[in-house]
Amino acid sequence: MGRAFVYVIVGGGVSAGYAAHEFVKRGVSIGELCIISEEPVAPYERPALSKGYLLPEAPARLPSFHCCVGSNEERLTPKWYKEHGIELILGTRVKSADVRRKTLLTATGETISYKYLIVATGARPLKLEEFGVNGSDAANVCYLRDLSDADRLVDVMQSCSGGDAVVIGGGYIGMECAASLVINKLNATMVFPEAHCMGRLFTTKIASYYEEFYKSKGVKFIKGTVLTSFDFNSDGKVTAVNLKDGSKLSADMVVIGIGIRPNTSLFEGQLTMEKGGIKVNGKMQSSNTSVYAIGDVASFPVKIIGETRRLEHVDSARKSARHAVAAIMEPEKTGEFDYLPFFYSRVFTLSWQFYGDNAGEVVHFGDFSGNTFGAYWINKGYLVGSFLEGGTKEQYEAIARATRLKPMIEDLGELERQGVGFALSV
Ligand code: FAD
Repeated sequence: MGRAFVYVIVGGGVSAGYAAHEFVKRGVSIGELCIISEEPVAPYERPALSKGYLLPEAPARLPSFHCCVGSNEERLTPKWYKEHGIELILGTRVKSADVRRKTLLTATGETISYKYLIVATGARPLKLEEFGVNGSDAANVCYLRDLSDADRLVDVMQSCSGGDAVVIGGGYIGMECAASLVINKLNATMVFPEAHCMGRLFTTKIASYYEEFYKSKGVKFIKGTVLTSFDFNSDGKVTAVNLKDGSKLSADMVVIGIGIRPNTSLFEGQLTMEKGGIKVNGKMQSSNTSVYAIGDVASFPVKIIGETRRLEHVDSARKSARHAVAAIMEPEKTGEFDYLPFFYSRVFTLSWQFYGDNAGEVVHFGDFSGNTFGAYWINKGYLVGSFLEGGTKEQYEAIARATRLKPMIEDLGELERQGVGFALSV
């Protein structure tokens, strides 16, 4: 049994949705494109799962956050795919790929062949067991990557309202979930090994602002240590978390956010890998010319930084998807992907944006005891990265523009004095 398509996207997350939108914009014909996804729903904006989806009042639910609402464009509901003749094969895992034969084999036993393949398989959460701790299967231990995880998290949160939640990990997922837990009236304690939260991006000064804000909302922090084991009750539920520093925290539920691993296994040994992802060129094309990779799974040349990077952020998923489709459908007109890394987060009443690269010396600016502050990163004399909390639309656009221009900075003191005004003046 088999079907053939001109274009096949494996994976049905953020980048798949934006790729489909771009295919339609560029005039894909009925029946040419197929998306195969393990998830049972059409592509949606994954960031909603740790934000609006977890709200106790009027939570976001599908179909409200299908792609491409995140970029203020039309919402790609299942009806949209149907109207445009795009085959959505949902709830179906691709279990193997043969890039020489240009075929995929699904878990339902179907062989699907393609002329062009776009790999959009994203990433999976790292499990505790990979760090030698057992307990991921306990009914009150939650991860957060897809809709079923989010539904489970909502159920568990509701079942232990007023109780104690422990969040393992101080990155994006940990921070956003801790905020949601206290909004849902749980007592949240965050545990992570680093000296401060968001260790890969934040400076100590930036992190301490967020940690203080979180503390004012009731979140507790235990830093510089890790989880070593759980205590379980007779139902197999976690009742306490044991830490390496010898302490024990009582827990009615646990949320784990300890990083992700790109889903590359279908292509190991078939495509060149780099930095844990599928290596692609500036057209998002892999070592096999018929195979492209986008989103979290792709390691691509970030021109402005001059390095190959794998980015785990929604903006990169959206834009790399559009670029790959342009490169496939209009190769002559499409140049190299020239991407300015952009990360953001929104928690409580806070909202920050970051552009570029957090390398080199840091210049903080603004009012760290107020609502608007930020930082610039200066590497080898040039401004390479900008962070801003509480900015206006105009200010965020200005820091993006300034970072893209990479201006030479001669006087760090003057830059600090000017703060966001510097970006507005560039
Ligand atoms: P995904 O969106 O993960 O999609 C991958 C898809 O592939 C999934 O549907 C998966 O089921 C499917 N798949 C995988 N393997 C197979 C297979 N073998 N067969 C069939 N299907 C398969 N980024 C930000 O910049 N800001 C944020 O605020 C933010 N918040 C986030 C909150 C949460 C809870 C999460 C999980 C992520 C968040 N991100 C955020 C990151 C962002 O969502 C990702 O970078 C983005 O989703 C990557 O898109 P993708 O298409 O590469 O992967």
